[in-house]
Amino acid sequence: MGNIREVRISRKTRIGDYDQFAKGTEAGLRKIAKPLRGRRILHVNATADGGGVAELLQGQVSFENALGLASRWFVINAPSRFFAATKQMHNLLQGKSGRLDEGSKRFYLEMNRAFGRSLMRIVSSFRPHAVVIHDPQPLAAIGALAGKVPVISRLHGDLLTPNTETLEFIRPFLMKAKRVVMSNRDYLKNFPWLSPRQADIIYPAIDPFSAKNKPMEKDAAARILEGFGVNPTKPLIAQISRFDPWKDPMGVVQAYYRAKNVFPTLQLALVGLTLAKDDPGAADIFRQIKKHEKGDPDIFLFADPRITKRVPNDALVSAAYVASEVIVQKSIREGFGLTMTEAMWKGKALVAGRTSGARAQISDGRNGILVSSPEEAGRAIVRLLRHPAFRAKLGRAARESVRRHFLMPRFVADNLKLYKEVA
Ligand code: UDP
Repeated sequence: MGNIREVRISRKTRIGDYDQFAKGTEAGLRKIAKPLRGRRILHVNATADGGGVAELLQGQVSFENALGLASRWFVINAPSRFFAATKQMHNLLQGKSGRLDEGSKRFYLEMNRAFGRSLMRIVSSFRPHAVVIHDPQPLAAIGALAGKVPVISRLHGDLLTPNTETLEFIRPFLMKAKRVVMSNRDYLKNFPWLSPRQADIIYPAIDPFSAKNKPMEKDAAARILEGFGVNPTKPLIAQISRFDPWKDPMGVVQAYYRAKNVFPTLQLALVGLTLAKDDPGAADIFRQIKKHEKGDPDIFLFADPRITKRVPNDALVSAAYVASEVIVQKSIREGFGLTMTEAMWKGKALVAGRTSGARAQISDGRNGILVSSPEEAGRAIVRLLRHPAFRAKLGRAARESVRRHFLMPRFVADNLKLYKEVA
């Protein structure tokens, strides 16, 4: 099956370990999972590494198996022309102006017919009780599956201001899904044609035991970054994100320069190592930033995945969170934004663009700061650098809100309830 391959998960989840974050977690989950034991769930998405969906699936699939379900995860293989088309689709759905050209639409549908055929072969042998199609890339394959197996469409993007024409293009596929799951209630207004029973909201979550979310000592973090030239005696801010216009890395650089006028020794790290296969534009954005930073020795750009041979991606990401005084997520659109959850779990003060994903996680001034421009971001960074006690207070509240709302067990429980209704 050349255009679909299975992702093997090495992580082993021990459900009992999660009781340390909330008593009774294991018992509660096992109770919900009991009637689902042996149920087979097939997840399909575009990429096995790079980006939030892959991150989420690593935890979710491992968790579902630990609870007695049989969950498997497949990714599609496609030429770069396909990912260029789906990236454009993603951008349009997140509100970029323009339109999807007819050639791209045709190629998207043609590739999806092939995915559909491969998926049907997997369905015939694995006989899943439900198929979850993540995001629009393999969505049109639903044509081959609907009526034979219940399909859930899981949309992870920011759907607050989607391009109407592109939404109309994917509408017939969404209509075929038993359920369409999104990350924010505010998106529902754009889907009036989905019946209330068909639409669901599930907030994503992080796994506190994954390599990047486990605790790391501040000294260890400083040593890792020192290896790349970051000075541990000077203040550091960071954004951890793919180089993507929606993540506004240029806005982060502008905010950094504003703060640097007040704190001349300030350093900035932009960490965007995982150049995901479905993200062909990243290299261009990176070149723009490179031009803009004009050789500033206090800006550290991490974009070449080859450096992870020396320090694994997760260790570098974790170190950047831990070693930074302030974490920035200056996004303009964010379906949810796991990087914010990760930073908050590390107890960091976060300055975030006022996106729907940030509003779902941050209450302004209590567990983070919301901003609407690079100027505001710059001012927020200065305020936080000036007031370590305020920084610590935000960080503590941030960690507590993740513990209560955005850890894997809650997310898995929500999904199990969904499977119960669908499968
Ligand atoms: N990430 C990573 N290495 C990097 C940059 C990002 O592992 O160099 C991870 C990050 O830690 C997070 C995910 O990629 O787990 C990004 O998820 P998010 O939901 O924030 O954004 P997306 O990329 O899906 O838009």
